[in-house]
Amino acid sequence: MKEEATAVGGVPPQAGKSDFKKLWNNLLDYIWPQFCLGCEQEGSLLCQTCLDNIQLLPADYQAWPENKNDFVFSHCHVCLDYHQALTQNLIKNFKYQYLKVLQEPLTQIFVKKIKQINLNPDIIITNIPLHNKKRKKRGFDQTEVLAKNLSLKINIPYYSLLTRSKNTKPQAQLERNERLQNLQNAFTLKQIDQNLVKNKTIILIDDVATTGTTLNEAAKALRILASKEIIALVLAKN
Ligand SMILES: [Zn+2]
Repeated sequence: MKEEATAVGGVPPQAGKSDFKKLWNNLLDYIWPQFCLGCEQEGSLLCQTCLDNIQLLPADYQAWPENKNDFVFSHCHVCLDYHQALTQNLIKNFKYQYLKVLQEPLTQIFVKKIKQINLNPDIIITNIPLHNKKRKKRGFDQTEVLAKNLSLKINIPYYSLLTRSKNTKPQAQLERNERLQNLQNAFTLKQIDQNLVKNKTIILIDDVATTGTTLNEAAKALRILASKEIIALVLAKN
């Protein structure tokens, strides 16, 4: 009761920014207790045990072995099996329920994957961006949040290289032959200092891949950069 009274009546004059944050978080916990999406234990949306128990797909997993030669990127690394209920729960809650707090465990999954695939150190990170309209509606760009957070965690530069110039329809709602047309010229390269990416491996981040078309169209826009290689990295493949 005492804490609630403080929150309503205002904080003491000496209180700093972190006190405000604590009060806000306490209030959120009070009105919206968090339960682990894996085991339903109260405390957080993904407890440490469930995070530790998440199995990565093997490093040599081939996302689309049959049309490997059709792609501009050289490989797509996939972190998780989308058919696992927890994987879908995490991604859908992050993306569609706006639970931004899930960026932490999802970034940890990317960190684990980067360690597993053992990339050379000359890499930079970028992401598949949302169209501005979608970004405004959602309040954040989910892949940008993950890519930036990953960059901080593993100390690899992040650059925003692409703009989504076409507000495309969700690929999942389209027939196979409409998908390519929907995405053609959907991405444009931003004006950047090309030396930043020269001879580097570009890690292109997305949340869920389906046919690889989105990744490929983005990679086509990146191709004119004198990078060494473009590698896609996604949380899961639907
Ligand atoms: Zn759990």
